[in-house]
Amino acid sequence: MSAVIFVHGGAGNDFDDRLAEFRAGVSRATWAGWQVLSQGGSALDAVEAAVCVMEDDPQFDAGHGSFLNANQEVEMDAMVMEGAQLGYGSVAAIQRVANPVRVARLVMERTRHCIVVGAGAEQFARQQGVPLCPMEELVAGSSTHLLRPEDRVFRPGQAGDTVGAIAMDASGLLAVAVSTGGTAGKLPGRVGDSPIIGCGAYADNALGAAAATGNGEALMKVLFSKSACDLMAQGLSPQQAAEQVLGQLERKIGPTQAGIILVNPAGEVGAAFNTHHMVHACIRAGEFWIKD
Ligand code: ASP
Repeated sequence: MSAVIFVHGGAGNDFDDRLAEFRAGVSRATWAGWQVLSQGGSALDAVEAAVCVMEDDPQFDAGHGSFLNANQEVEMDAMVMEGAQLGYGSVAAIQRVANPVRVARLVMERTRHCIVVGAGAEQFARQQGVPLCPMEELVAGSSTHLLRPEDRVFRPGQAGDTVGAIAMDASGLLAVAVSTGGTAGKLPGRVGDSPIIGCGAYADNALGAAAATGNGEALMKVLFSKSACDLMAQGLSPQQAAEQVLGQLERKIGPTQAGIILVNPAGEVGAAFNTHHMVHACIRAGEFWIKD
């Protein structure tokens, strides 16, 4: 089985002027994931590595750079899933950690739970030795302009820079990770699609894997990621499945911002989005490409 890493930096309309930097950030994340795979690492290690690079990069709405909620605070959602045992872990509305994806993986591997939220997630992170940081450290990049009072309104149109990665390793294991600061101006405590299984992401070695981005309130209503995986299981290519699930979403919910990347059990990839851009990059059989 030839290894694959497929990464996106969010589907959005308002980063036309930052495209070159976005491409560079997504490239760095993709190569970080590939480095893990090429050294024989697991798909889970690869997606965690890729997502951590983007959480550390203030251009993306994840970790550093997370959009601010209506209280002008950072609250983040993240999830990981692996496709062999359907292992799944997520955190929601977590604060004061730089890499929520790491905490999501610890939930999966070190607890008997799937989702841990808010203060409990922060306490769990601390107990697991994950360093906490002042919230101000996470307010960076695209989130800084949201400190203006007029920006304290919920703006689903300002979803966009959520990050995600899918990997398949040499053993054929599929894994996915996503991380987000969520939508700008969201209510404190609001949870989007990203940490919810089948909505923000899904992985099942028998079906394929998906990582989504966009208006979480819309995506969760149609189980966006699981629906895409089901379409691949019905025989659609990842590209056909990505386009079809996006069409289904728009028919059901109406115009709404969304994007998705997919990998099927054969390691083939596909992507679709209805925004100006969704920077996405792939390395498969050692070959790199990037699109937006
Ligand atoms: N899906 C994310 C959310 O609703 C936002 C995004 O993808 O940009 O929280």
